[in-house]
Amino acid sequence: MARDPVLTFTEEGIYCPAGDFHIDPWRPVPRALITHGHSDHARPGMGRYLATRAAAPVIRHRLGDVALKTIEYGETRRIGGATVSYHPAGHVPGSAQIRVEVGGEVWVVSGDYKTVDDGLSEPFEPVPCHAFITECTFGLPVFKWTAPDILAAQINDWWAANAAQGRISILGAYALGKAQRLLRLLETGIGPVFTHGAIENTNEVLRAQGITLPDTTRVTADFDRKAHPGALILATPSGLSGPWAAKFGPDRSTAFASGWMALRGVRRRRAADRGFIVSDHADWEGLNSAIRATGAERVFVTHGYTSVFRRWLEEQGLEAHIVSTEYEGESLETAEDAA
Ligand SMILES: [Zn+2]
Ligand SMILES: [Zn+2]
Repeated sequence: MARDPVLTFTEEGIYCPAGDFHIDPWRPVPRALITHGHSDHARPGMGRYLATRAAAPVIRHRLGDVALKTIEYGETRRIGGATVSYHPAGHVPGSAQIRVEVGGEVWVVSGDYKTVDDGLSEPFEPVPCHAFITECTFGLPVFKWTAPDILAAQINDWWAANAAQGRISILGAYALGKAQRLLRLLETGIGPVFTHGAIENTNEVLRAQGITLPDTTRVTADFDRKAHPGALILATPSGLSGPWAAKFGPDRSTAFASGWMALRGVRRRRAADRGFIVSDHADWEGLNSAIRATGAERVFVTHGYTSVFRRWLEEQGLEAHIVSTEYEGESLETAEDAA
């Protein structure tokens, strides 16, 4: 008799028949294993949730008092006929890849991941498996991230030059992960750092769980821009381009920090003065090294340049499939704003 695959792809999301649970489902299901707290992966309406201990505070902050149990990285849990464990994905604090083993066959769901150490998230750990379900948001060779030390110098130089002119700097980044990672790169001697409310809310949750972040002040309605001429404002992507940014006056410099900044056309359309090439997703080399490190012979690709990337994997001798999901990758607009 043919066995069920370890994981299947249903209308609700990725499903494990042997364990009767879903992973990052996008429709309500009784039992959801969650890779991380971004809004396209941790959605409301599930009967029960299981996430890492480090991901739980943000999920509770976003979803309220849901039935959420936690698991440590590397701890194994038996769920029905499946054995499950969570492994660092390096994407945002608490983010995990989920390993599912049934009858000796191992499948891994990557969630979102990156292979560079951002100094904030638990570093990515390759998990050997037979089948690997990977995102490929940035699955083209043009996507190559700036090295962390160069990135830090670029951002601080931009900020310092603005501050010297008495101009406010506004840097757009996602509220969970990217914002805190950039915050830790800032040379806070240049000036004070203010935050959009959605970012400050996330900072508070992360500080409360023991993550150290530089001092920041929430931007309030009565923000006096004359009092802080050399300030840096961390904004959400939508805050950066919307009316929220107007309160900082006409003499401001805006920058957007995203993997999409690697594409010149996107940089122009964003109408930001500067673009910094940084992402919490893997770049081309990161995707390829991560996939190689798993040793998987079957690869399922989700959100991103799926058809190009599948063809590339097939050329490398792998069995590759495209899976359509409702994850949003790194959107240019608001998708990962909310935390
Ligand atoms: Zn994410
Ligand atoms: Zn995602």
